[in-house]
Amino acid sequence: MRTRAPYRYPAGASQYIGGKGRCRGCGAGLKVLRYDALTIHCDPAHLSQIGELGALLLRLRTWHVIEPHIYRRHSIAIADEPFPKIGYVLREHRCGLTAPEGAALAPEPPRYASDDPGF
Ligand SMILES: [Zn+2]
Repeated sequence: MRTRAPYRYPAGASQYIGGKGRCRGCGAGLKVLRYDALTIHCDPAHLSQIGELGALLLRLRTWHVIEPHIYRRHSIAIADEPFPKIGYVLREHRCGLTAPEGAALAPEPPRYASDDPGF
């Protein structure tokens, strides 16, 4: 379902992370991306490999975001880099689907309490 963009995009920006939005159909929170002059509404959860596989089996497109750049996760990109080391993977939003949870979510990056790495 198409939702209203949260604000106008800068002219000439072919790739742009628009920010947060809300789906008019189901009210779910969305992340809004701009890719090749198309507005794409994604679920905000960062996907693991299992989550991406589940999304692809549901025929949802997936996107690799290395802010501020966005890359389509087509078959060659997935074969080259099954789980991206930097950035995160998002799936397209479709109303009626439950948000990804459990093993479908990417693990949190480690957070260190101080500058001391512990070695
Ligand atoms: Zn929706």
